[in-house]
Amino acid sequence: MNSITDTNNFDHLIACSDCDMLLNRAEVPAGHSLICPRCGKTISRRNSDSILKTLALSIAGLLLYLPAILLPLMTMKSFGFSDSANILESVLNFYRNEYFLVSFMVLVSAVVFPLLLLTSIFVISFQLYRQRYSSYLPRLFRTYLHLEEWAMIEVYLLGILVTIIKMGASAEIFYHTGIFCFTGLVLLTLTITSIIDKEDFWEAIGHKGKKKPGEPASHRRPGHGMPGTAAGQGLILCHICHKLSPTALEGKRCPRCNEKLHTRKPFSISRTWALLLTSAIFLAPANLLPIMRVDFMGVPDRSTIIDGIIYFFRHDAYLIGLIIFTASVLVPVFKIIGIIILLLSNPLCDVHVLRQKARMFRFISFIGRWSMLDIFVIALLTVLVDFGFFTSIHVAPAATYFCIVVASTMFAVITFDPRIIWDKCSIKETVTTDRITRIVS
Ligand SMILES: [Zn+2]
Ligand SMILES: [Zn+2]
Repeated sequence: MNSITDTNNFDHLIACSDCDMLLNRAEVPAGHSLICPRCGKTISRRNSDSILKTLALSIAGLLLYLPAILLPLMTMKSFGFSDSANILESVLNFYRNEYFLVSFMVLVSAVVFPLLLLTSIFVISFQLYRQRYSSYLPRLFRTYLHLEEWAMIEVYLLGILVTIIKMGASAEIFYHTGIFCFTGLVLLTLTITSIIDKEDFWEAIGHKGKKKPGEPASHRRPGHGMPGTAAGQGLILCHICHKLSPTALEGKRCPRCNEKLHTRKPFSISRTWALLLTSAIFLAPANLLPIMRVDFMGVPDRSTIIDGIIYFFRHDAYLIGLIIFTASVLVPVFKIIGIIILLLSNPLCDVHVLRQKARMFRFISFIGRWSMLDIFVIALLTVLVDFGFFTSIHVAPAATYFCIVVASTMFAVITFDPRIIWDKCSIKETVTTDRITRIVS
């Protein structure tokens, strides 16, 4: 029997990026997702007119961007003093206080990356809509996919809400246009990331218009599964654009998106351990040292993350206390323990355990960004509460350690290759059908 790698055209095949299972590419109707039958990962989400919708949303997002970042969000009034804040100012304040790493993290995640994300997806969708297939498009779309992980404006929006609730009892708050523009910007960005049909974009970029975007490819067959993995069949799945290539291209560039091809992420286990160790070491000073300093009539009062949480519980703000506790304490600890569990091999090869691990990996990837919440709240408070000698709020050393924990755990998730969970186990299940489900949104 001929191997499927005898031919160089693998467009009728698709592999799961989380477990490497190889499947015959099913025709997935618009409004439906293709779910991996082995690990439950959403392999693709199809949407009709994705390019046109993305173009319209990115234009609206770009129009809102400058007012959202530069206009004042709100003014806080207390004991005759008042101060207002905008997003950019909150970032610059960290810089002025010489918290360069914190300032850099907040600047890139809340200001620079959201702009680059909107600009890149606008250029790509505009070019594809005009059927101009410039040579830079694959590289630009690759950049967009990386930016999706690091742009965190929705976390900043939650930070604004927490600040409002935190200060609402002790100060009068007046809202300005900036907060509405920023909320609009967050909603537009979230809509883009949820409706974008990545497969549609890659097909349009890769085929350079030979096939109309969104149109079913003629060589596709109705979906039915194929036991085995991409690696087992001599194929490499590009982890950026999900194109399959023969293993002969190991270490070379993906013909579609130019990313370096590897059957498994290189040094995945050792790199992930190193990053986990880094985050575990910095977790102690991040939690034990003060993260914020409140100066009242010249008397400084330093508080740690835990002190901040206790403050909310003492003032009956249980929900906010719980949110901060989850984002700042539970999430980093859960991520570190969770990735350690994933790294430990599973000699039993129980398919249910493997599926649980795959689910845990997806959950860890999703929650990582929410740890930045407390940093964003402090960013806003330092600008909003700056009433000179009377009272002012300042950032304290734990913020730097906390940012190192967030960044290193996020990098640990990126360097971890979830396919190694399945590699040592040969699962003796034969999958006969792909699972196509309607997108619930
Ligand atoms: Zn899978
Ligand atoms: Zn690729």
